[in-house]
Formats: sequence, C-alpha cells, structure tokens
Amino acid sequence: MQQNDLTDAQKKAFEQNEADFRRLDDHVRDVQETARARLTNTGWPDSGDTRRCFSCPCPDLIVNAQGKCKRSGCGHPLTDHDLPT
Ligand SMILES: [Zn+2]
Ligand SMILES: [Zn+2]
Repeated sequence: MQQNDLTDAQKKAFEQNEADFRRLDDHVRDVQETARARLTNTGWPDSGDTRRCFSCPCPDLIVNAQGKCKRSGCGHPLTDHDLPT
C-alpha cells in the first residue's frame, strides 16, 4: 500500500504507534543503563564491544529468528542484552 492511500485515521494510527515505540526505546535505554550500573557495582567486567546479556552471564548475543538469544543458558530477548546506544 502506498503512503498516499492511507486514510487520515491510518496515518494518525501510524504516528501514534511510532511515538509509543520511541517512548519504549527511551524506557529500554533507562533500564539498560540501570542494569549496566548494577553489574558494574558487583565487579562484573564491562564487555566492551560485545553485546553481553544483563540477565545472565551470556557473553555475547547471538540472535535467532524470534529476536531472542540462542546461546545455551541465555534465551533472553534482544533487549536484555547490552545494545549500542
Ligand atoms: Zn544472550
Ligand atoms: Zn541472558
């Protein structure tokens, strides 16, 4: 469907959805910052460039088709991992 074919209601719905998802981004960023600080306080080493998991000792994200980590013992969603901000 072309953008021009959208009704006003559909356009508005997309705009509101996008705004809600951006709010979610902010929330994820906040939670990630808190998670990072919490681990640092325990002496857990910063992983540098890798996308470690904040919810388990998984050292680096390997994402599967469902958007979850397929490393054994992890299985946490993408957003549990240390994503570049
Ligand atoms: Zn993981
Ligand atoms: Zn994990």
